[in-house]
Amino acid sequence: MFYFSTIEGRKVLKSDLLVGIEHFFTTRDICIFSKEMDMSDNKAIVENYLGQKMATNQPVHSAHVEIVEDGKLFYPKTDGLFIHQGQAAFLNFGDCVPIIVYGGGIGGIIHAGWRGTVQKIIKVAVEKFVNDYRVQPQEIKAVIGPAICSKCYEVGKDVYEQLLDTVFNHSCGFYQENGKYFVGLKDINKQQLLECGVEQIDVCSYCTACGEKLFYSYRFEKTGYRHSAVLKL
Ligand SMILES: [Zn+2]
Repeated sequence: MFYFSTIEGRKVLKSDLLVGIEHFFTTRDICIFSKEMDMSDNKAIVENYLGQKMATNQPVHSAHVEIVEDGKLFYPKTDGLFIHQGQAAFLNFGDCVPIIVYGGGIGGIIHAGWRGTVQKIIKVAVEKFVNDYRVQPQEIKAVIGPAICSKCYEVGKDVYEQLLDTVFNHSCGFYQENGKYFVGLKDINKQQLLECGVEQIDVCSYCTACGEKLFYSYRFEKTGYRHSAVLKL
């Protein structure tokens, strides 16, 4: 279950599935990344709170995932970062699905938009746990953060069909109405996780586009501001 907490008095969202693990999703109360403005003051607030510099990425809607090395803070052209004890990372989002994964003392943050979901980046992350760290899917906890909901996310038929191909079970995440196609990327990523054998999953109900304006929606605001998923081990 998700709940609100604060970092230096600023509102952030957390999941009780990761109790004891330092993680959160930033809200508009503390934006740490924008393409329009220098947010380094807010980023410094978070890094001071964590007592740790954070690694980050340049997202390219790929299924490429990297392991963070000590002392290296920027990872170009990657959509997932894995960290170990003593490291921290953040990735930025403006409708795409943020997923924090944790198991066996290893953690990761994944950026899954429709392209990353078509390429099954979350499956790549689960395989990394299994192959690189000998952490089995049953030991992995996955927290799917705030992202655009299926009511707000109309896609073309071609995208809809590509996403259908990524899962066996189509009961959640796929909707058609008046000849229009809608997808729920949070639900589809959850289904991909289930089909990889991951059972411990928490899905955030917040949409970035409708309801309370807690997060940023690129699709509806065309904004350069982003909310972030933060993890420190
Ligand atoms: Zn919505």
